[in-house]
Amino acid sequence: MNDCIFCKIMKNEIPSKTIFEDKYLKVFLDVNPMENGHMLVVPKKHIKDFYELDNDLIIHINEITKLMSENIYKKLHCDGIRLINNQGICQDVKHFHLHIIPIYSSKEELIDIDEIYNALKKED
Ligand code: 5GP
Ligand code: ZN
Repeated sequence: MNDCIFCKIMKNEIPSKTIFEDKYLKVFLDVNPMENGHMLVVPKKHIKDFYELDNDLIIHINEITKLMSENIYKKLHCDGIRLINNQGICQDVKHFHLHIIPIYSSKEELIDIDEIYNALKKED
């Protein structure tokens, strides 16, 4: 899709703070995070809705989401995580994406996205 912002991110035509990438998907930090560490799991293929994803891709998205969640708990010490997929009138970007949103017990100020990126990318 020529005018899809996430397709452009997939092709590196728009930069993103990428946490993970393979043949099928990219995980990158949300440019307008709801909480520190808010990231999006996005398939490379332009697919709009959850019900249109093939089952192998759903399994893969879940496996990577699990890995990302473990990494978020370890590196950002959050107290919970929300997984959200918006569809229809709730969906701004019409290219499937799963939000991974860390939740903190004390209200944390949003900090510089580069700091979050570096913390998440740091080797164990
Ligand atoms: P939706 O409402 O479609 O589930 O949410 C779309 C999300 O994509 C929003 O949280 C928004 O901040 C994020 N987003 C929109 N454009 C860009 C972009 O160009 N780069 C990144 N990293 N995130 C984006
Ligand atoms: Zn797209």
